[in-house]
Amino acid sequence: MGKKVFIFDVSKCSGCRNCQIACKDEHVDNDWSPYALPQPDTGQFWTRIEEKVRGQVPKVKVAYTLRMCQHCADAPCKKVAPDAVIERDDGLVIIDPTKAKGREELVRACPYGAIFWNEELSVPQKCTGCAHLVDAGQIPHCVDVCPHGAIRFGDEEEFATELAASEALEPERAEKDRPRVHYLNLPKRFLAGCVIDPEEDEVIIGAKVTAENVDSGQARAVITDDFGDFWFHQVEAAHWRVYVEAEGFMTRVFDADTCEEDRNMGYLELYRNQLQG
Ligand code: SF4
Ligand code: SF4
Repeated sequence: MGKKVFIFDVSKCSGCRNCQIACKDEHVDNDWSPYALPQPDTGQFWTRIEEKVRGQVPKVKVAYTLRMCQHCADAPCKKVAPDAVIERDDGLVIIDPTKAKGREELVRACPYGAIFWNEELSVPQKCTGCAHLVDAGQIPHCVDVCPHGAIRFGDEEEFATELAASEALEPERAEKDRPRVHYLNLPKRFLAGCVIDPEEDEVIIGAKVTAENVDSGQARAVITDDFGDFWFHQVEAAHWRVYVEAEGFMTRVFDADTCEEDRNMGYLELYRNQLQG
């Protein structure tokens, strides 16, 4: 049997959280034994959307990322409780609610924070990939309700192109755990700013801004827009040398870094070239 995978495309997610609500709708108060006992009303998010605010005001972007059980092919939770964690033929990883009863250590076994403890029933719980729906030839509820097709689910073979372009949520763990949830367009960094003429107190439209990666020497250039703004999207975490040039102005060079976070360089001032004046 072919293995199933989830594909989550960050660039398509609007953060509406329909998927998060659908997970509750499907599992709260519903007993889907033998795959899962009911999810409690509060305290558990088998599917959740994490919001990350990037940059500094006024150049801010928000990225939404899906966090759920990664249905690892080499699951750390299964190593802790091989008798209670089952990998189905289709690759979905299930915590057997009967065999896992009382085994709270499973919560700590998941490096992705995907397992929750149900105090009332005394069981560890997590996303089942809606195995009860998959068995009926349907797709997981979170996938079904997404209005933008940001979460997809299906056979590995169907998604060959996406898989080739995908990344893991935690790249440093990917080789070890071999997650079956694959991510497209995970945010890198952005480098942005606004070019102004302080003498005229105006923005400079059409300035050429070149960002050179100090370590690799690779450079890319953009032109400031009608607001004097420039944006470099999906750049590496790196130190940058930024050259700003515009006709009639002296070229200036600035340093910036995106090592720890996205960077709004703020207002970059250019001064008129007196020789041409
Ligand atoms: S339903 Fe789709 S668009 Fe809405 S938060 Fe979930 S993944 Fe994003
Ligand atoms: S993400 Fe966590 S719960 Fe899911 S299979 Fe991997 S280790 Fe187990």
